[in-house]
Amino acid sequence: MFVSKISKLVLRSLFKKPATKMYPVVPRVWEERTRGHIGIVEEDCILCGICMRKCPTNCITVDRNKRKWIIERMQCIQCGCCVEVCPKQCLTMEQAYTTPETFKVVDTHDIPAPPPKAAPVAPAAPAQEAPKAEAPTA
Ligand code: SF4
Ligand code: SF4
Repeated sequence: MFVSKISKLVLRSLFKKPATKMYPVVPRVWEERTRGHIGIVEEDCILCGICMRKCPTNCITVDRNKRKWIIERMQCIQCGCCVEVCPKQCLTMEQAYTTPETFKVVDTHDIPAPPPKAAPVAPAAPAQEAPKAEAPTA
């Protein structure tokens, strides 16, 4: 009985596809909803600091004076809260995981200064009418 069960299992396993992937021969495909790491579009960030205040693990630091957005990668739990609250939608949940390291990974992003606003154009003065020539008297 037991031997027949084992034989069936062995035979089934022989003809089944392997459960594991042949990485790196077969490249890793991330599932659509994988929570890997937080990405930022630096040009869109306005340094408002909402993400820093809402982060439950305090892994984001926003330095308005030095125009820096800093994240401690190993402290992030990929909850996605910062992505939800960012008013400029400049944070994204990327699918690839942060590479494992033996030290704390701190990523610093320089936020570019916004382009200077164009000076308001003064409204054009209304054109003055030329004085009418008087009709010659007879
Ligand atoms: S990433 Fe978004 S929420 Fe965070 S400081 Fe920049 S604009 Fe504000
Ligand atoms: S995903 Fe969560 S833990 Fe990670 S930086 Fe955003 S708010 Fe913080």
